[in-house]
Amino acid sequence: MKPVSEVEQLVTQTKKQLEHLRALGVEGIRLEVEPEPVKPAPPPIQRQEETEFSLFGELAPAPKKLTPSTETFEQIHAEIGNCTRCPLHLERTHVVHTEGNHKARLMFVGEAPGADEDAQARPFVGRAGQLLTKIIEAIGMKREEVLIGNVNRCRPPGNRAPMPDEAATCKPFLEREIAVAQPEIIVVLGNTAMKNLLDTREGITRARGRFHDYKGIKVMPTFHPAYLLRDPSKKRETWEDLKKVRDYLDAAPQEGTRDTKGD
Ligand code: URA
Repeated sequence: MKPVSEVEQLVTQTKKQLEHLRALGVEGIRLEVEPEPVKPAPPPIQRQEETEFSLFGELAPAPKKLTPSTETFEQIHAEIGNCTRCPLHLERTHVVHTEGNHKARLMFVGEAPGADEDAQARPFVGRAGQLLTKIIEAIGMKREEVLIGNVNRCRPPGNRAPMPDEAATCKPFLEREIAVAQPEIIVVLGNTAMKNLLDTREGITRARGRFHDYKGIKVMPTFHPAYLLRDPSKKRETWEDLKKVRDYLDAAPQEGTRDTKGD
C-alpha cells in the first residue's frame, strides 16, 4: 500500500472535522487571518554630521555670529575687578588685561601671562612679547595699532597651561572685548589659546596656516612666539601664516571710520 503523506492525512482529518461541524448544524466557517498590527515607520536617522555639515544648507543650524557690543573695555575691566573667580588669583600679582587699539582690524590672542606680564600688568612684554612685536612690525603694522590679549588674565603657577575650567571662567571677558572691537582677523598664538578660542580637536601643527572661523571673524592659528624662541626653525611657517593675514588685510576694504588710537 502506498504510504499516506502528511498533507493527505491533514486533508482527511479536516474533511472529517468539517463533516462533524455540518452534522452539528454549522453552515459555514469564516476564514479570517488576523492582520499584523501596522508598526509606525521609524523616524529617518539624522546623523549629526548631516545636521551640522549639510551640503545643501537647509539642515545646518545657522552659524553663530558675533553680536556687536556697545559696552567699553573700561566697563569690562571694572567688572573683572580684583578677580577671585578661579584659583589662578591665588598666586598672581596683577590681572593682565587686553591692550591696544579698541577698534583694531587685527587682534592677537595668547594663552596666559608669564612672569614679566604678571609683574608689569601688560600682555606680551617678556621675551616672547618682544618677538611678537617684531612679528607685528614685519607685516607693516605697529604694536599700538593692534589688540593683544590672552584667554586667561592671571599667570598660572610655574607658567603651566591654564586648566579647562580656568579658561572657561576667564574666556567670556575676552569674548566681550572681541564683540566690542570686532576685529577682522584674530591670530591665535599656540595650541592652548587656539583650543580655548576655537571649538577644534586639531592640533596647532595641522590647524595653522589657514583661516578658521570665530563667530564670523577670520582666525589664523600660528605658533606661539615662546615656541619660536625654543625652535627658531618654526619661524618660517609663522611668517607664511602672517603673510596670509597681511595679504587679507591689504585686500579687504578698510572701514574709513576706524579709530586707530590705542588706549
Ligand atoms: N605668553 C602668553 O601666552 N601670553 C603672554 O602675555 C605672555 C606670554
